[in-house]
Order: sequence, then structure tokens, then C-alpha cells
Amino acid sequence: MVKIRPEFADEIKKFGGVDFNACYNCGNCTAVCPLSVTDNTFPRRLLRYTVLGMEEDIQASTDPWLCYYCGDCSSTCPRQANPGEIMMALRRYLTASYDWTGLSRKFYTSKKWGIGSLVLIGIVVILLFAFFLPFTADPAGLINEDGGVKINHFVKGMDGETFVKTIEIGDLVMAAIITFFLVSNIFNMYLKIVIRNAKKVKVPFSLYVKEAWNLFYHFGTQMRFSKCEGKSYWLLHWLLMSGYTLMFTVIVVFLPWFQTEKIHPIYHPQRFIGYYATFGILLAIIVWSVNRLRKSGEIHKYSHKTDWVFLIMLFLTTLTGIMLHIFRITGMVHFTYYTYVIHLAILVPMLLVEVPFSKWSHLAYRPLAIYFTNLVNKAAALKKK
Ligand code: SF4
Ligand code: SF4
Repeated sequence: MVKIRPEFADEIKKFGGVDFNACYNCGNCTAVCPLSVTDNTFPRRLLRYTVLGMEEDIQASTDPWLCYYCGDCSSTCPRQANPGEIMMALRRYLTASYDWTGLSRKFYTSKKWGIGSLVLIGIVVILLFAFFLPFTADPAGLINEDGGVKINHFVKGMDGETFVKTIEIGDLVMAAIITFFLVSNIFNMYLKIVIRNAKKVKVPFSLYVKEAWNLFYHFGTQMRFSKCEGKSYWLLHWLLMSGYTLMFTVIVVFLPWFQTEKIHPIYHPQRFIGYYATFGILLAIIVWSVNRLRKSGEIHKYSHKTDWVFLIMLFLTTLTGIMLHIFRITGMVHFTYYTYVIHLAILVPMLLVEVPFSKWSHLAYRPLAIYFTNLVNKAAALKKK
């Protein structure tokens, strides 16, 4: 039996849905969509589900994740119903619906929660430094032979190795929290999609193994994006994704290798990774911010408040990272230490909020949606044989 919740259409407006009620179901959007195929015909179907309030069917659908928001459907819609934007709003809604804690919904729909949580976690980070890792007041002896600041020596009475170890433990605790929430939300996504569809078609275990390559391939290449938005936009997105993933891995898993006392030559892999990630992230932030400010093209016409929070947090993290690097290599002791703490006070809340509960989670949900879609479709094909 199809369950309908009439107030759903109003609710989706809080997640950024606009003008979708104007849709008269002509199907133009599906016909022009470069990613819609016979097995997955969107966005028309999702507009219908939204207007009718078919919440459970939306939650069981992977379609919103299969759209990479090129905007072709919106620019050709005869009713200006903005189908591309409803797909975006549904991705935000689905992120919230997978999250069992309810925090994601609050971050998306309440400014107080969205900004307050980031500020609160940032203050906690600063207080942790103030109480447990306070700066040494005397900068004497804190400059290396190469003229750079001894980055791991700003706590009085604590040697460099112990300092890096302490920060590394903090990183691992943060990564464990992120992983716990993200994985449990992914499990919820799996229940809503694969298990719910299992009433119609059961997925054999061998298919899970056979189709697993989809996860790695689509996470690593984001190839569907290039079919939708063209090569240059795909490249920009890929630079951001790869730079961010590299930095996250280096900071959490290889911190002693990355945060060394010695300043390596410019061509050293440690510095190269940092510059590569900074370049990719900064380029994407600038292009997207300018496009959003100018509202250029269908995909930048509407910006949800969380789109701006994401861009601003990413920008502040990158800016403080660049400043930290400059202060450090030019031997500015106190500026280096203060910027180090400010950098972490922006980075940590961004990761804790954005990765499991908000924008960054799409990096996990998109390849998983492709994987789950293949599982369900291929299991259905096997059943027919
Ligand atoms: S969103 Fe526009 S193009 Fe798509 S079915 Fe509705 S009216 Fe037609
Ligand atoms: S935004 Fe592009 S990919 Fe998404 S539904 Fe519309 S046409 Fe398809």
C-alpha cells in the first residue's frame, strides 16, 4: 500500500525545494536528462512523489543521488518547476532521513543549530588547548636551524614527539566519532533502500561481492559527473574531492609524517600533497562562490544556507592552513601557534558536522547509491531469468 503524507511537500521547502508544485508531469525533464535511463527514470518521477507526499518511496529511492545536477532539466522545464533543484533538496532531505540522531535535520533546517553547533565545537577545541595544551610564553629557542618555527614545541614542558602523539590521538578520536555516525547512517540508508526493496526482490550474497567494485570506482573517479556536467566541472569537483580526501587521510593516519619539525624542500611529497590539496580546494571554493554570487546557470540560481556554510567553513580552513604555513616557514612563532589552534577550531567542527550529517556525506552516499541500485536492478534481472 502506498503511504502518502500531504505535508511532505511543505517540509521539503525547508530543504531547498522551490516551485515544484508547478510541475504538470509532461516528462520533458526526464527526456533531456543525460543520466536518466530506462531502469531509473528521473527527475519526473521524484517530482510526482514529492508533490503527492510519497515519503517512503522517496526514502527507498536512489534516484536523487544518481543526479549530478547539470541543470538541463530545469532549463528546459516548460513550467519553471526547477526539477534540478528538487533533486538537490531531496539529497539534503535523504541525508537527514538516513541520520538516526535527528541532528542532520536540525543542521539543515535551523540556522541556530547549523551555526551554533559549529561555534560550540570550535570553542571546545580552543578550551581543550587552553586547559590541556597551553602555549609556552617564551618563544626563545623555538626557531629551527632552517629558520622555521618548531611547530611541535608550543606546549611548555612537552617534547615534540609527545605533542604530535597527543594531537594524533585527538585526530583518531575525531575520526572514530565521524566513522561511527557515518557508518550507522549508511546502514540506515541500506535498510531503507536494499532491505525495503528485498520485499520485491532478494539480493543474493554473491552480487554484493561482485558489484563492490562500483564503490571504489565511483568514489575514486566520480565518472558519472563528467557525463552530466562536462569535463571541466568534473575536473574541478575531482580536484576538490581528491585534495580533501588526501588531506583527511594524511592528518588522521600519517600525522607524524606530515607535521614534522623540519621544513622539507618544496619538492618533498609532504609539501607537495599540502600544496596540491590547497590548490584544488581553493580553486573549487572560488569558482563555486563566484558562480553562486552571480547566480550563473541553473545550478547556481538557488543556494541553500548550508551551501554557504559549507563554502565558508572550507574557505576559512584553507585560509588558516595557508596562513599557518606562511607564519611557520617565516619564523613567526606566536602567529604560528595561535593560527594552529584557530585552524583546528575551524577544521574539527567542519569535519564533525559536515562529514556524517551534512554536505560532505554525499561523497559516501553517491557511490553507495550506485552500488545499491546495481544490486537491486541486477537481482531483479536474475529473478526474471
Ligand atoms: S518538472 Fe517540468 S519538465 Fe519535468 S515533468 Fe514537471 S513540468 Fe514537465
Ligand atoms: S540536474 Fe541534470 S542530472 Fe539531475 S535530473 Fe536534471 S538533467 Fe538529470
